[in-house]
Amino acid sequence: MRRLLLTLGVAIFLVSPAGLPDISEAEDPGFRLTSHDLNVSIEPSSHRLRVMDRIELRAIGEKNRVAVRLNKHLVVAWVSENGKLLSFHPRELSATAPARESPGVDARLTHEIIVELNRATKNGEKIVLDFDYAGELNDPPKEPRHLRFVTPSETSGHIGPEGVYIGPETAWYPDLTDSFAVYRAMVTTPPKWETIGQGIMAGREVTPAGTITTWDTRTPAEGLTLTAGQYMITTGNCDGIETATYLYPEEHSLAEIYLGSACSYLRAYTALLGPYPFPRFSVVENFFASGLGLPSYTLLGTGSIRRRYIQPYALGHEIVHSWIGNYVYNDHGGNWVEGLTTYLANYYWYELQGDREKARDERRLMLFTYAVYVSPQRDYPIAQFKQKVDQRDSAIGYSKAAMVFHMLRREIGDEAFFGALKQLVAGYGGRHTGWGDLETLFSKTASRDLHPFFTHWIEQSGALSLSDGADPDFNLFRRIPRTELPAMLNLFVTDPQRVIILPPGDTKVLEPYRQIAERVSMQEGVKTWAASDTELPRLDSASILLLGGPAAGPVFNWANKALPEGTKLEPEGFRIGGKEYRGAGNALLLSVRNPDDPTHVVSIFYGLAPDAASAIAPLLFFYGWNTYVVFENGKVISRGDLEPRKP
Ligand SMILES: [Zn+2]
Repeated sequence: MRRLLLTLGVAIFLVSPAGLPDISEAEDPGFRLTSHDLNVSIEPSSHRLRVMDRIELRAIGEKNRVAVRLNKHLVVAWVSENGKLLSFHPRELSATAPARESPGVDARLTHEIIVELNRATKNGEKIVLDFDYAGELNDPPKEPRHLRFVTPSETSGHIGPEGVYIGPETAWYPDLTDSFAVYRAMVTTPPKWETIGQGIMAGREVTPAGTITTWDTRTPAEGLTLTAGQYMITTGNCDGIETATYLYPEEHSLAEIYLGSACSYLRAYTALLGPYPFPRFSVVENFFASGLGLPSYTLLGTGSIRRRYIQPYALGHEIVHSWIGNYVYNDHGGNWVEGLTTYLANYYWYELQGDREKARDERRLMLFTYAVYVSPQRDYPIAQFKQKVDQRDSAIGYSKAAMVFHMLRREIGDEAFFGALKQLVAGYGGRHTGWGDLETLFSKTASRDLHPFFTHWIEQSGALSLSDGADPDFNLFRRIPRTELPAMLNLFVTDPQRVIILPPGDTKVLEPYRQIAERVSMQEGVKTWAASDTELPRLDSASILLLGGPAAGPVFNWANKALPEGTKLEPEGFRIGGKEYRGAGNALLLSVRNPDDPTHVVSIFYGLAPDAASAIAPLLFFYGWNTYVVFENGKVISRGDLEPRKP
């Protein structure tokens, strides 16, 4: 789903020149913006663009002025209607008015351009306005601030030699709140640069002066995102859908992998959801870290492209967004899009492949995610989920919502469930759609009133609580008590009481462990101690991250009591899961219950040589879901869950 995290830290209260914020006008624009015809020149070296945009509006009632939003860095040269110049002036957005349900509107970045029509419109009248404007968009992406979450680097949109990314959040074209418009964009870039827009590529001309590319979308969309870079293009065809990759030369060899994988997903989800809503699908490499699904393309950072981001939770998820999220849209009441996309891509793909074991693993993981990240005190109903800010939101809006769709499908059967999804795509394209619409659709295909189901699962927080063993295949959305989960690093991560123990040793030995400790101790309430400290904190009432394994001396000897049967950890080797590991490249992450209080855990991490630990240190927290993970030279070679030692 296309959403950048925006920096909305400080509320700034701005007042219009007239004195008071004109809230009513900002909330009801009095027009619907239905079409853009853009002529764009982009100059990456100077961060500049120049645009002529012809917009079509539909008047609602009698209005004598139009107020559109535009980025403050863009200076409007003129506005005209039928060749006649109109007067206009900028106006600050009030801090309160536009924030209303409109993600991506930032009063520091955007203001309004008020255009005087010099007459009153008739209700329903079509107005065509031409805007000519230019300016600099120079907001280089910053690294994400949330270390543990995969979020796009933060930018409001950028034009530079390293690449171009401008979208609705940039406010690089005149826009109105809540408009669904069609877009035609003719974009000129310097030679060797390629532009990707939405819809169909209606033209591409390579001239000595530059590349001129025209993109045309006839499917109404919430916004237009343009991306440009010095790409190598590879094209394909998937059952009549044009496919393409836009990759930098270094990653160009991966094109066939992405085209092949995209086609498998396009085929599978066309069969499930109905015709693919766009004429084209492209995989585009981005100059900053991102995983964004946009209408007719996906924008992935270089790191993701190199790691072969073709898994169901990755490329599959972005492709399902083509139907769910970028064709049928969330309304402002909530976010059902992520839950349904997660269900269909991250989970249901495995059912489609007949991989029952992997499907069960995914259901189990969704329940674990909720158990670990959502304490009963901090739970909230799915209806309140808007977007993912932290892991708790993700556990509710993605994992729980996906499980609720799973239960709904089991409740009403595949025919009614998938029948409703086909009707959803066929009937709600280019529209805002809410939980209520889903309830209506599913009730219709199931021939029964599903209001009680939706009220219970969407509007109320919580989960079922079942006795152990009542749902061995994880088909029901229930709360698994933390004490019944296998010991795992994520139980340490989410424990309010945490202690980190560092082993003794020289700088080289210590460095990877110190890095890990530093990252964790940035969070609240975590204390770091050296294993050699004479006075150690109480270990019996906290979760412990024990770095260095046997090197941690007495603390390790204490934790050793809780090691599962058949497990042995020594400085030169370890035995786990029935196997012995003694290579210098081996490292182990093992979690056990705290020997003094099993509501807490002890997570032990160590490498048999410093390099083995260094290779894993930056990624350790990606391995939080298993009791043990064995690594060799930075790669996982074995993982699993173990029964705790019987008391
Ligand atoms: Zn998504």
